[in-house]
Amino acid sequence: MAPFAKTGGLADVAGSLPAALGDLGVEVLVMMPRYRGLPSADIKISKKVRVRFIHHEAYFNRSALYGNPDGDYSDNLQRFSFFCHEILRQSEAMGFCPDIIHAHDWQTSLVPVLLKTEMPGRHFFKKTKTLLTIHNAAYQGIFSHRRYADLGLSNDLFHVDGLEFFGRINLLKGGILFADAISTVSPTYAKEIQTRNYGFWLEGVLKKRASDLRGILNGIDEKLWNPATDKRIKKKYSIKSLAGKAVCKADLQERLGLEKDADIPVFGMVTRLAEQKGLDLMAEIADEFLKKNIQFVLLGDGDRVYHTTFSNIGKRHPKKAAIHLGFNADEAHRIYAGSDFFLMPSSYEPCGLGQLISLRYGTLPIVRKTGGLADTIVDQDGNSTQGNGFVFEEQNARKFIGAIDRALTVFKNKKRLEALKKRGMAMDVSWQKSAAEYKKLFKELLKS
Ligand code: ADP
Repeated sequence: MAPFAKTGGLADVAGSLPAALGDLGVEVLVMMPRYRGLPSADIKISKKVRVRFIHHEAYFNRSALYGNPDGDYSDNLQRFSFFCHEILRQSEAMGFCPDIIHAHDWQTSLVPVLLKTEMPGRHFFKKTKTLLTIHNAAYQGIFSHRRYADLGLSNDLFHVDGLEFFGRINLLKGGILFADAISTVSPTYAKEIQTRNYGFWLEGVLKKRASDLRGILNGIDEKLWNPATDKRIKKKYSIKSLAGKAVCKADLQERLGLEKDADIPVFGMVTRLAEQKGLDLMAEIADEFLKKNIQFVLLGDGDRVYHTTFSNIGKRHPKKAAIHLGFNADEAHRIYAGSDFFLMPSSYEPCGLGQLISLRYGTLPIVRKTGGLADTIVDQDGNSTQGNGFVFEEQNARKFIGAIDRALTVFKNKKRLEALKKRGMAMDVSWQKSAAEYKKLFKELLKS
């Protein structure tokens, strides 16, 4: 949950959705592990929203959340099994009986399973309904069957209609089977994960539950991501005038050692360095891309192989590519503000926040048509009223370069460029709409 701990978009969602629900009158208690550096006492975010940090010195006081660049922590099953049991134990101890438990991803998928099966104090939660939101179907929490005892479940759940998955334990599968409802973070992704290419072998289980599965788009925190009030950028700006954005661009170029020239388009990328993000495609086109009169700024953290690939690209093109490896929230703001275009060639993208943040900062997204990118970005080509970016569908170098070239053509047409930037900035990408949809779903669940 941002700002307490973050590796990607889930933190943004957990940081924004509770407050937006609170504004709609929903009382929310968020529970998350007490990762290193987090306080022990509960934090009250607003009248309606409180956060509790679940403590376990050995499990959670570590340098990272899930693992290091060499791989996941080997005891992740024990860590998150403990967390799920604690969520229920502490709720009950507090006398806090929720109408809904909203579980996120495999880390909390055991909660719906426990509520439907093993929970000793189950009667306490007998009216509680569960919603599982899948933020990324590729991360399933798969573990050796030898760890099964650590889940605190009876053995009769380890079979193909339970948590068993090709001889191993799959926690997300358990959540999908036992939650009262399932959601994912965009309507297109909700459909995609029921197919072979996107379901990562859970497509069959998801299809089975298709009538209880829906897609609700994420929003962004408009207080955090707002060029008119953003203290981390060189000069604030708004839809009324983009003069400040030009200052941010010059500042970005100067600080990163790129030529300071307003007429050279800057392509930004802020991303986890994971295969999903289309980084192989990016690497494939890099040399051709960097031959053009452009500049490329990448901020990324994650898999070691991509650290190597992209630092090599940076070395081959020192004047045109600025490669910043690591996680840096301040730098992310400066890239969203200072870039002309934002690249997201993802092979799949459950929702994607980068393109929404870009829109808000008047930076035109270039995206592959998948998941939430398909639901939020419309190619400007031939769509004069709704276009807000550049979209390519087939996952290949020619199509990607094609989209970049269309962007370069628009870049030369200053009037059109500015109109598109302002259209993006005017879009409603806030949480209000999404939170209202979640509340509607909660109400349906309580009636069922
Ligand atoms: P995912 O959840 O798959 O990582 P999203 O697009 O949904 O992708 O969310 C990514 C979020 O994390 C955005 O807020 C983005 O700005 C931020 N982010 C990703 N990588 C970095 C990084 N290296 N430094 C700072 N922020 C990052």
